[in-house]
Amino acid sequence: MEYEKVWNKYSQAELKKLEKINAEYMDFLSNGKTERECVDEIVNMAEADGYVELEKLIADGKKLKTGDKVYSVWMNKSVVLFRIGKKPFSEGINILGAHIDSPRMDVKSNPLYEKDDFALLDTHYYGGIKKYQYTALPLAIHGVVVKTDGTTVEVNVGEDPDDPVFFVSDLLIHLAQDQMEKKASKVVEGEDLDVIVGNKPVNFGADVRKGTAKSDEEKSKKDPVKAAILKILKDQYDFEEKDFYSAELEVVPAGRAREAGFDRSMILSYGQDDRVCAYTSLRAMLDLPVCDRTVCTILVDKEEIGSVGATGMRSRFFENAVAEVMNLCGQYGSELDLKRALSRSCMLSSDVSAGVDPNYESVFEKKNAAFLGGGIVFNKFTGARGKSGSNDANAEYIAALRNVFEKEKISYQFAELGKVDAGGGGTIAYILALYGMNVIDSGVAVLNMHSPWEATSKADVYEAYKGYIAFCKGMDL
Ligand code: MN
Ligand code: MN
Repeated sequence: MEYEKVWNKYSQAELKKLEKINAEYMDFLSNGKTERECVDEIVNMAEADGYVELEKLIADGKKLKTGDKVYSVWMNKSVVLFRIGKKPFSEGINILGAHIDSPRMDVKSNPLYEKDDFALLDTHYYGGIKKYQYTALPLAIHGVVVKTDGTTVEVNVGEDPDDPVFFVSDLLIHLAQDQMEKKASKVVEGEDLDVIVGNKPVNFGADVRKGTAKSDEEKSKKDPVKAAILKILKDQYDFEEKDFYSAELEVVPAGRAREAGFDRSMILSYGQDDRVCAYTSLRAMLDLPVCDRTVCTILVDKEEIGSVGATGMRSRFFENAVAEVMNLCGQYGSELDLKRALSRSCMLSSDVSAGVDPNYESVFEKKNAAFLGGGIVFNKFTGARGKSGSNDANAEYIAALRNVFEKEKISYQFAELGKVDAGGGGTIAYILALYGMNVIDSGVAVLNMHSPWEATSKADVYEAYKGYIAFCKGMDL
């Protein structure tokens, strides 16, 4: 089967729309580099569109009706949005899902130390990364430090052109004779991913505050560079070393999303897995008219480490929110109503798919692989070693989806993540499938997945956006 070349089908007017969506998407990527920042962006966009917070509606004793817009945030890291449709929940809802966490390096609980006149932050990487890719590139630190009095300090250093950046050192090639013999997984090891954050000792004459305890001054003498960094953290951010215990600081590649290629056909950015699906799902939902079925978009944390924790997809957060929304619609008689609603629902579990890489063709089986510029990707199944761990979508559901997409002339392709037994991966699809609903993995093809700079095609971003609209409006199975 041949896939159509998506780029060639657009009119000038449509290309303009495509560029607009992609420009907004690049802003979303650049402004939301952590799950918390993404939630902030999403809530801002939703509220501007008239979405109201679920907890506020409950507190105010309000009800919901067809056309109403409601959202709920969980622990500042996951968010779910609903647009109430014309049909009752008992006939099922249409769900778009994606994740907003991305691979990175997390700052440890007791991170700051001094060695060889450098101050460093110790990290523990998050998600699957090729560790050597995180050395010798500009890094930014994003996150929060929560103090015992309950106040939150927001940290975002390294993105503004005037900001300093940080880096993990890499061994010079001249002295790397032994290192170059190691296998790639050992070239840079997890404990080597310590971020250099300073190199200037505290100046006792000028820098140490009046009234500093003698013991602190003695400590400063032992680790003067670390002392200088602590002083900066105190002066500029008003937190102390112990506050690292209650912090969530994420070290990510510094810099904005960029257009890529002479033809500007692609986007190169950190965090496109899976913010490309999160953004397009959200944008689609905000641009929708009132649909027959209630539409829901769920954007979750912790996918990269197994969808665990209170903010991951395996948390009851989503189910609870659906129950609350049904209740405000006057449609929650008992848990049976919730079970029926969920089991009759349809979902696009959207996550990135591996695009065929011209430099590494051998890991793909090209008849069943996704191409950048080939449109939205469906993976009937994912998994590894004999489809293990996969959500294998039903043929009946796929036929209904094809019908919806073909009617709206959305370009789509079917793919597997690489050759049989080349590797594999998982998504949140299997978790929603636990409710007995129809779920399929869909999304956007990327190159360099999980690297500091991932690449997508603008055409695929646009087709995903249009595809999600078509799905929400037209899916009824
Ligand atoms: Mn993903
Ligand atoms: Mn991933």
